[in-house]
Formats: sequence, structure tokens, C-alpha cells
Amino acid sequence: MTNKCLTLALHGGAGALRGRDYSRELVHMRGLIEAGRDRLRGGASALDVVVETVVELEISGLYVAGRGASPNTAGRYELDAGVMDGPGQRGGSVAALEGFVSPITAARAVMDTTPHVMFVGEGAAALADARGLKRIADPKSWFTHAGGGENRAPSELATGTVGCVALDETGAVAAATSTAGIFGKPLGRVGDCPVLGAGVWADPRVAVSCTGAGEMFLRAAAAAQVAHRVRFGGESLACAGDAALAEVKALGGDGGLIAVSADGQLIMRYNSAGMKRAALLADGSIVCDVFGG
Ligand code: ASP
Repeated sequence: MTNKCLTLALHGGAGALRGRDYSRELVHMRGLIEAGRDRLRGGASALDVVVETVVELEISGLYVAGRGASPNTAGRYELDAGVMDGPGQRGGSVAALEGFVSPITAARAVMDTTPHVMFVGEGAAALADARGLKRIADPKSWFTHAGGGENRAPSELATGTVGCVALDETGAVAAATSTAGIFGKPLGRVGDCPVLGAGVWADPRVAVSCTGAGEMFLRAAAAAQVAHRVRFGGESLACAGDAALAEVKALGGDGGLIAVSADGQLIMRYNSAGMKRAALLADGSIVCDVFGG
């Protein structure tokens, strides 16, 4: 079956700071949407496109994930990532992974090559090594911190988890999320991003990627909540997304999420000051923004 309604959305984090220049991120995000659109039009799967897009977001150094990661309070770069493929509701994730260029490819390796869903720390690194994933040669020259080449105090940086959701021509949806987590996080802290149902989710109907105060997204089971509101409550994707974010807010957090459904709905919602985001709409147009509606 061919689905004409291809859609794709990505985010670069909900921690946007007013007054900061995001022109590089906007150009970068638009380029990734154009590339993902072309891949989807060429018949690529939603899964391949969300992973490829998140790899580009990770290695750009523009967001607080992958190359742009910030260290934890122990000075270590412990990164988290998760991916889900809607058909079959398959998932894979890594948490507190150190030493690899692309945590999302490690998450995909967990999904594709093991009967398990989640690997952490040393075990995640051993799996990534065993699959031949690229190691960071020199951490000192690799990590850029978001938006600059020098180390900055955490208070000067805005959080910048990255994520992508897509609907392909077969009607399949997929989601991927990758992050360095929140600034000033202690050793071993893991947020929502690699936890299926919290910061990432895809089932045959809906795919979701979240960003924001991870503890509250975990407590709200935010990503799965969106999908379940649609599936069991008959809500529109927009209502479901807003309700999940309202619960995050009620728990004391804020943030945002992007989501697509197999019937062609797409949302990018946030209740933080802004969210770096871009999307291919069903009519073929591209939207790209940080603040505003
Ligand atoms: N949700 C991420 C975490 O708590 C942070 C973020 O999205 O900026 O790890």
C-alpha cells in the first residue's frame, strides 16, 4: 500500500533561550528536513530516516546531544538514546553510554541485533564495540558544547535533546531521541530519552519524541501517554500532546514533543519558552522555528 501523506518532524531541544541567535540551527534543521523528505520520497523507511536524521543532529555539535553534549558533574559525557519502530512496536536504547560518536546507532544496534531493549554503561559500550560502531578518537577535540567551540558554564547553555519522527509511504511511523541529558546532572543519572514510553515511543499508530525536564516526562510516561490517548481515548494527536505536556507541567516540569500518526497528523507542541523544531507538512511545505506558534 502506498501512502501519499509523507510527514517528518525533528526537534533540537526545548531549552531554547530568548535573545540567542539560532540562525545556524534553523538552516541546519531545514536542510535535514529536505534530506529526510527526499529519502522518504525515494521510498526509505521511517525508521531509517529518523535514525539518519538523529545521527546528523548528533554529529553537528549544534545541540546538546552527541558532539554538542555537556559533561556531567563528574566531568564525563554519559549519553542516552532510544529508538522505536512502529510496525512490530520494536525498540532499542542505550543509557550512560560513553565514548561513541553516535548513541542513536548504538540504540538501533540494540533493537536490530539483540533480543533485549536497553543496555547501560559498560555493557552498552561493549555492545557498540562488538558491532563496530565508531568510537570518539579524542574527546577533548570532539565535544564542542552547543553553539560554540569553547567550554561554557552550564548556566550559559540551553538544553538541546534531539529527536525525529516520521511517517513513510508504507504507512509506518518511527521515532528516535538522543541526548546528553540535563545540565549539571550527576554521574549515572538517566532521563526520559532512552526510556521507551517516556521520551520516545512508536507503535503502529503513533510515534513520539520528547524533550524537556526528563524526570517529569518519566513520571508522566509522556510519550506513551500521547499514543494511548489517541488509541484508547480517541483523542486527536494535538489534544493528546497537549494533555501529556499539561501533566508534565502539573508535575513541575516543562518541555515539548513532536509526534506523527499513521493517518497523517503531525504536531510540534511545547510549554517551555521555545523549542528548536522543523517539519515537513502533508502538503509538502516545510516549517522551521524556535519560538512562536
Ligand atoms: N529530556 C532530557 C533529559 O532529561 C533533557 C532535554 O530534553 O533537554 O535527559
